[in-house]
Amino acid sequence: MKYLVLARRYRPQLFRDVVGQEAALRTLKNALSYKRVAHAYLFCGSRGIGKTTLARLFAKALNCQALSSEFEPCNLCPSCVEILSGQSLDVIEIDGASNRGIDDIRTLNETVGYAPSHGKYKIYIIDEVHMLTKEAFNALLKTLEEPPERAKFFFATTEPHKVLPTIISRCQRFDLQRLSQEQIANKLQTIALDLQREAHPEALHRISQFAEGSLRDAESLFDQILCFAEGAITLEHVQSVLGLVPDEFFSALDEAFSEGRAAFAFELVEKLFQMGKDLSHFTEQLIGHYRRLASFRLSPQMQPELEARRVATSAKLYTQTQLCFILDTLLASYSDLHKSPMQRVSLEALLLKILRSKHRVPLEVLARRLSELEEKLMAKAAEAPVAAPAPVAAPAPVAAPAPVAAPAPVAAPAPVAAPAPVAAPAPVVEPVSLEPVPFNPYQPPVAVVETPPIAPPAAPQQIISPPEPKEEAPPQTEEGLAPVHTETLLRFAAVELEGTILIEK
Ligand SMILES: [Zn+2]
Repeated sequence: MKYLVLARRYRPQLFRDVVGQEAALRTLKNALSYKRVAHAYLFCGSRGIGKTTLARLFAKALNCQALSSEFEPCNLCPSCVEILSGQSLDVIEIDGASNRGIDDIRTLNETVGYAPSHGKYKIYIIDEVHMLTKEAFNALLKTLEEPPERAKFFFATTEPHKVLPTIISRCQRFDLQRLSQEQIANKLQTIALDLQREAHPEALHRISQFAEGSLRDAESLFDQILCFAEGAITLEHVQSVLGLVPDEFFSALDEAFSEGRAAFAFELVEKLFQMGKDLSHFTEQLIGHYRRLASFRLSPQMQPELEARRVATSAKLYTQTQLCFILDTLLASYSDLHKSPMQRVSLEALLLKILRSKHRVPLEVLARRLSELEEKLMAKAAEAPVAAPAPVAAPAPVAAPAPVAAPAPVAAPAPVAAPAPVAAPAPVVEPVSLEPVPFNPYQPPVAVVETPPIAPPAAPQQIISPPEPKEEAPPQTEEGLAPVHTETLLRFAAVELEGTILIEK
């Protein structure tokens, strides 16, 4: 048996073998079951996700002479066999990239009227249809508008925005999805089982990650790795075929970050250099690494299980803010690094920046800390009057009506302090100051316990201005405020100067 690449050998021959694309599959099967087949279909989507496969399958199902009850083609009837061998006269595949001129479409228009030889329909599958010239599209337009009853057109394209709107509006359009990593890994596992080769899940996972949603890319890569490796396919095999830097390098970088070892930047680049790795390729991997960590930190439940296990330890070494900062830095520096004539030094500087960012204090944290400080100071300022006026204010509510309306002697009902409500509290009442505090509901009595130390120095002043105790507070706290202000100002100055604060040891 002649050798076929995996992507061709395992191309789905039944609808149920197609990976993903549930919406398109259901619509196509329903079209068969309700006999509502449109005359033109447009399959859009990125490479290797099954556009042409779906078009061929549908063409086969339309012409199959023994369609199953689930609308699967039989793959045995003469029509199916012809299509399978690529010799069908009724299913004509045209490559839009190399037959893009008006003459090619004119030829097509001339044959479109002929009856199909075996099957029910004459089906034209035009791949990369966006490559057709404007004139070719216009030549196709008329045929597409009123095609012969037994002619069907299936178009496939990776760039639907390049297809004329007048063409699109005459088609049923399917936007196919990229495949998930799980879907790709599962398909590769099935292939491995069929080929009786063992493949480690991490290896398949890495292949599917690299394929970026394209099953064909994954299959081609898997094909290459199967040739490269003997026995079981491991993650190391995948990494060496792809020229990837081993994962250990990234975990070592994470550890160096958590330990604040900036010198590791030079060690790492030296190793990569010795191994002959491409430095910009490494940076791409680095971006991928931090993207995974950031995405794990932000939504751990969204990660595939294998992935989560792999990044969990490293992700703990960073905060969300640090990861976002590093990702920003990497993305901002990536294109510069690509163009840099001194790539090695640029990469070292970039890694240094990443490693040193552990001690970076983000601006928003500084702002928050400043406002916290402010609040603390305000609270302290508010506390001062609580303690200070206490001796003065407390008697007031109790004896309030008394001093104003009535002379001193009448105030007697007011407890013991009564004898001289106006002057009395100030000189002697100091020790009593704690008692009236709870008595004072209209003042915010914050942390009553802390007040005594501040109260004594204030006491003499209170006598002078008993009715406005609040004004006395600032002068008291001002003394404590000075150092805090200095520190804050210094931090802000540091931010202004270089955007980061480094606490060097
Ligand atoms: Zn058939």
